[in-house]
Amino acid sequence: MDELNKPLEQLDPDFIKNTLKVVTFDVDGVIVPTGTFLRESSDGTELTIKTHKLSAEMIDMIKELKKYVWINFSSGRALLYLQSMLSDILWDRVSLTAENGNFILMDGKIEQLALYKQSYFQKITDIRNDLKKLKEKKPNSVYGFEPKHIILTVHTAEPMSEIKEVVKKHDKENELYCLWTGEGYDIGPIKTNKKTALLFLSERLKIKPEQMITTGNYLNDKEMLDFGVGISVDLEQVSGEYAIPKKKGQLGGEILAEYLLKVLAR
Ligand SMILES: [Mg+2]
Repeated sequence: MDELNKPLEQLDPDFIKNTLKVVTFDVDGVIVPTGTFLRESSDGTELTIKTHKLSAEMIDMIKELKKYVWINFSSGRALLYLQSMLSDILWDRVSLTAENGNFILMDGKIEQLALYKQSYFQKITDIRNDLKKLKEKKPNSVYGFEPKHIILTVHTAEPMSEIKEVVKKHDKENELYCLWTGEGYDIGPIKTNKKTALLFLSERLKIKPEQMITTGNYLNDKEMLDFGVGISVDLEQVSGEYAIPKKKGQLGGEILAEYLLKVLAR
């Protein structure tokens, strides 16, 4: 890649019209604002999560975009959460990829894209148990866990070195990442990332990476942005072939959808 973070206006209309087959939207920070509220009771029997909704304009734009290209959503969130959040724009010509590349829902079927030994799940459980103890000690800093199958997501008030230490203690094999996401930590297997799902998707749809636009706003989007024609919506965090500068009142994903429709639907 010769030049990085080019302005969106340089994205060739001919490419959009004749080559583009798939647009992958990252979710948090790209099509909805970041910052999910999560609180879990100390014994884990009560959980409150407040989620964001797509704007009405974005729902309309995605419905229109689907007429021209396949739409893929990629997130660290759980599949169940994505399915409910994005229910307005399912089901045709849409896929959902969840838990940082571990699951994909497409054509009515859920696929698990990487397999792990039971020892992996045991390790995640041991980490979770230690983090529960940390939550008991610091209930105002550790808020609780998002329900997920494969990765572990703990919500915290701010970055905490204790979390990284707990992961390090259990992960002698160095097979886990522990990534601050702005609202907590995603802890999961290094061997799987958002690109894992894009490889599966492009094989299934018989397309090349060059026929896919990918978007992202964070470090965990790096592999994904490098895979397709990457568009970063947060230059301070991650680079892409193109970049959309932050704009108050409008999300990067909305700006992109508007730009694509201007070319496709004219
Ligand atoms: Mg994101």
